[in-house]
Amino acid sequence: MGGEYNHRMAIVVRVVLGFLLAASSIVSVAAELDTASTIIVNARIVDGTGAPARKGAVRLQGDRIVAVGELEPAPGELIVDAGGLTLTPGFIDTHSHHDRGIFEHRDAMAAVSQGITTIVAGQDGSMTYPIKYLFDRLQQTPAAINVASYIGHGNIREFVMNADFARAARPEEIERMRRLVSEGMGYGALGLATGLEYDPGIYSTTDELLVLAKEVAGFRGRYISHIRSEDRYFWAAVDEIVRIGREAKIPVQISHMKLAMVDWWGQSQRLIDVLERARSEGVDITGDIYPYEYWQANLGVLFPRRDFTNRETAEFALKSIAPPDGLRITGFPPEPALEGLTIAQIAERSSMTPAEVLMDLTQRSAVMGNNDDVIGTSMRSDDVAALTAWPHANICSDGSLVGKHPRGTGAFTKVLRVYVREQKLLSFEEAIHKMTGLSAAHMGFADRGVIRPGAHADLVLLDPEQVSDRSTIEHPEALSVGISKVWVNGVVVLDEGEATGHYPGQVIRRVDP
Ligand SMILES: [Zn+2]
Repeated sequence: MGGEYNHRMAIVVRVVLGFLLAASSIVSVAAELDTASTIIVNARIVDGTGAPARKGAVRLQGDRIVAVGELEPAPGELIVDAGGLTLTPGFIDTHSHHDRGIFEHRDAMAAVSQGITTIVAGQDGSMTYPIKYLFDRLQQTPAAINVASYIGHGNIREFVMNADFARAARPEEIERMRRLVSEGMGYGALGLATGLEYDPGIYSTTDELLVLAKEVAGFRGRYISHIRSEDRYFWAAVDEIVRIGREAKIPVQISHMKLAMVDWWGQSQRLIDVLERARSEGVDITGDIYPYEYWQANLGVLFPRRDFTNRETAEFALKSIAPPDGLRITGFPPEPALEGLTIAQIAERSSMTPAEVLMDLTQRSAVMGNNDDVIGTSMRSDDVAALTAWPHANICSDGSLVGKHPRGTGAFTKVLRVYVREQKLLSFEEAIHKMTGLSAAHMGFADRGVIRPGAHADLVLLDPEQVSDRSTIEHPEALSVGISKVWVNGVVVLDEGEATGHYPGQVIRRVDP
């Protein structure tokens, strides 16, 4: 934030007790306040419902919002002058990996600095920690942000089947998974998350998923999925998640929606039609999306049959899914020196073709468990924009606290820069709704994502004209700008670009609707 921005920065003022005692109406308000309260005055309020911005004040007490509207400060109350800046609900990241390393990075700056106050973990079927351990440890050692979690299908599948997971599960194995799902739901998981393009989820049958999804239904939970294919078998993968929603009778959400194959480019309306048809038939299907044309995964996902020596598969992947000059190695344990290079660059430096490089690297990585990282450019910007604008799509980051993809620090602020300011695809209020109120509805959060009395005081104070991402592939760590303050449960965690060192984050457990 530059110097010209200073005069508009919010000013925190501690009002001397008695300063305002002259106004009797204020005394009566004060009488109702039994613990210290904060009032944010002179704000432009965008409440997360999609309603137009309105001027006003917001009073916080404890971890809640207690009043919104034309409010006067009460004696002794902490006053925050918003200086005309815009106050929104804290952003809810429905597909996040910011839980990785959260206990080493409790400030969660990558998330908080782009306005995220709540992350939803367990994504892609992968939990960093078992639900009970994660929740217990977060209660003992909270972070700056709130954390909710799905049960990672991949984790429980691997726990039950061990290394022998490359096959359909037997009935007794599915029964053991079902009991683990039941246990996780009992701890307050939101539902079941799958990652069906990854090991070990890719080997599951739809019947296995249906058994587990129906178990979730008994708890009135939900299902979220990195679907079985985002390229070759995309339409069948969409049909599968629709079927799970229909037969298990639970809300289902497609993670990080994308059309990641040349053949499907320009078909965003076809996808929206499929989803709308399912919705019209009673399937509660929604999606989340991040604003980039490139994804991050491991090389193995380009070989859905795991046939890493198949030249045809490799050539097809580089032709139709991820061109060699847009497929960049960002983590490669067998040979870290390759990190930062594209497949095209590695091929140029060797005697191999790009397809041979792809096969070689994937085989070498497989020996070490496929824990490489690669960024692939597979989407077209107009598809990303059209899917973002779908009324049932909310924004996610898919990001990490310390990651190589710029989404970890910039996904939400990039939406505000590109889709609101530059392209005018969304109004500011619509974009905020897709980051807050809509996301809360998609996750089943009853009292977050909106600015209204009784809701949790997760708030962002920002300048709509300045808010922007700065992260790039070259500098994925660059933090966003234009966000002045972030509150989590009534406590300031980010103040003019600096972490405050407060850790008011809560564990968010599923509540019965
Ligand atoms: Zn994913």
